[in-house]
Amino acid sequence: MQVLIAEKCGFCHGVRNAISVAEKTLGQAKGSGGVYSLGPIIHNRDEVGRLAKAGLRTVENIEEIQSGTVIIRSHGAAPEQMGKLREKGLNIVDATCILVKRVQHIAEEFERDGYNGVVIGEENHPEVQAVMGCAKDVVVIADESDLCKLPVKGRLGIVCQTTQSPEHFGNMLGAIGRRSFSELKVINTLCQEAIKRQESAVRLCKEVDVMFVLGGLESANTRRLAELCKKYNSETFYLQNWKELDIRVVLGKNVAGVTAGASTPDWIIDEFVNNLKAFDTGRSQ
Ligand code: SF4
Repeated sequence: MQVLIAEKCGFCHGVRNAISVAEKTLGQAKGSGGVYSLGPIIHNRDEVGRLAKAGLRTVENIEEIQSGTVIIRSHGAAPEQMGKLREKGLNIVDATCILVKRVQHIAEEFERDGYNGVVIGEENHPEVQAVMGCAKDVVVIADESDLCKLPVKGRLGIVCQTTQSPEHFGNMLGAIGRRSFSELKVINTLCQEAIKRQESAVRLCKEVDVMFVLGGLESANTRRLAELCKKYNSETFYLQNWKELDIRVVLGKNVAGVTAGASTPDWIIDEFVNNLKAFDTGRSQ
C-alpha cells in the first residue's frame, strides 16, 4: 500500500527533551535511589512502558515518593507540588517545556496585575492543572457552554492550553468578546509545533483514501489531530499502535496517510508505516 507521512508529526522538542532528560537521569542514577515521574512522563503508554523497563517509576502522588530523583514532565507541575517535593528533600529534575513554563508565568503576571486568569483548554489536563496552581481563581473554559463561569464585568487575562487549535482559540475569543467584561488581555500561548502538526495533518488527510492518527488516547494534541482529520476525511482512525489496526479498514484502499501526535515516539510511527507499506490491500497501485 502507498503510505504518505505528514510533513510534521511525532515528538515535539518539549517531549523529546523530557524523554532525553529521563534517559540521562536513569543512566546517572544507577544504584543511587529511585527515579520517579510525577504522572506519566508523556501521554503514550508504549513509551512509558519502555521507560518503566529501564527503571522509571510513574507515581500519581508525591506521598508515594520517599527518596531519590523526581522528573517533572513536559506538562509541568504546580508551585505547590514543587514546594512539597523540595520539602521532602528530593532531587528535582525539571523537564517542563519552556512554552508551558511561559503560560505558568503569564498566569502569575495576570494575578499580579489584577486580571482574572482564564485558560481556554481542558480542566483535567495536567498542563492546565499546573497553570491553575500558579494563580488564585483561574477559570478554565473548554467550550462555549463554560462561558457562564466567567466573572461578570471582570478584567480578564486570557491564555490558551498550548495544544489547542488556532480555530478553537479564535472562536472562543469571539464568544468571550460578546459577553460582559471591563477589560480583556489576550496572550497567544498556542504552540507552533502543535499548529504545524495540525496543518500538515489536515493537508495530508485531504489527499488520501484513509488517514491514521497515531498516539496515546490520553494525549490532548493527538486527539486534536484526530478531530481535525475526521472533519476533512471521514475515513480517519485514531490508534495507539500497529496492533490496534483492524486491517479491514484498508482493504480496497490505495493510499494511506499517517500522522502522529507530539508524544508519539518514532519507533511506533516506523513500525506502523513499515507494516502498512508491506500490506497488500488487494488494489493495484
Ligand atoms: S506540544 Fe508544544 S508546548 Fe507541548 S510539549 Fe511540545 S513543544 Fe511544548
